[in-house]
Amino acid sequence: MTWINFQTVRESLDVSEVLTHYGFDVKPNGQDQVKICCPFHDDHKPSCGLNLTKGVFNCFSCQTKGNILDFVARMEGFDPDQPRDLRKAAVLACEVFEIDGGSKETPADDQPKAKTKGEQAVKAAKRADTAGIGNVSPTPSAKVDATSTAPILEPDVEAVNPPLTFELKLEPEHPFLSDRKIAKELVQEFGLGCAKRGSMAGRVCFPIHDEEGALIAYAGRWASDDQADDKPRYLLPKGFEKSRVLYNLNRVIAKREQLIKKGEVVDDAIVIVEGYWSVLRLHAVSVPVVASFGASLSLQQVSLIVQAGFRKAVLIFDGDEGGRKGSEQALPVLASRLFAKMVSLEDGVKPDEMSDEFVAGLPRYVR
Ligand SMILES: [Zn+2]
Repeated sequence: MTWINFQTVRESLDVSEVLTHYGFDVKPNGQDQVKICCPFHDDHKPSCGLNLTKGVFNCFSCQTKGNILDFVARMEGFDPDQPRDLRKAAVLACEVFEIDGGSKETPADDQPKAKTKGEQAVKAAKRADTAGIGNVSPTPSAKVDATSTAPILEPDVEAVNPPLTFELKLEPEHPFLSDRKIAKELVQEFGLGCAKRGSMAGRVCFPIHDEEGALIAYAGRWASDDQADDKPRYLLPKGFEKSRVLYNLNRVIAKREQLIKKGEVVDDAIVIVEGYWSVLRLHAVSVPVVASFGASLSLQQVSLIVQAGFRKAVLIFDGDEGGRKGSEQALPVLASRLFAKMVSLEDGVKPDEMSDEFVAGLPRYVR
């Protein structure tokens, strides 16, 4: 088993070198940002932007985005959301771009075939060809029929959880929040409040953002412990795909970037809990924390954590049967991409009820 450190590989990859390798003509223009014809859809004008220093890419047309290692993975026909694929791509990237990805050993089973410089050149030339005319995708994974001459529209590029076009009017002063001793600053920072009208009426709402900070949904907690039988305690909008989002990741990323800019040495560990209240409890004391919307964790959610730069994760699901079962399933998913550990809480304890002593032992942003 080779230890591949995705972060090391990512940071070692030079965007310009990667682009040149795949046959894209990158002219230095003194700026961080370059645009290329997107290799992941049938692109006729440069729609795919890459940031040379941040090592990220984003196609404004087909919405394919990620870091530079994801880019390499896709170029090689791998799916970067699949841990096995990403690992293979990382091993290959280390070899092709002659970087040290974190280990000297190489596994026998999935070591890529060594490529000669000649083969690479042929590949690059081929890609330069197709990239130049911009109507044939070089990736086997792309959904483009290369034999067709008609412009191809991709039918399934609709983004999941698209940004909302409205904002709910929420009343921040509500006994449900003050009774729980949620500090005013937190109420403000998280934009919490009770909805008076609409489908969320009578609920304390938690605005949900994607990792880039775009508002994509509201979750509503029925604002009373007296539960009407016909009303679910928590409500999420229809069609919301919670497996693609982590609650609070936008704030964690923003705070981390802010600290890095200040020159602080940030820790690479994050805490994962089930729900909103636990996030509030831990966020208030500077624990980098996200919630997975219940006692489960998807590969996409783990991907988001890895992309945010974390290498370690502490899983703290609720101290009940659901939490324990969920942890057992989530831990291997988590451990497929980073160093993971699980903390079992006592029966009936949720992370928002954890003792100060316990919380003191959790990771913080700064080491
Ligand atoms: Zn694209």
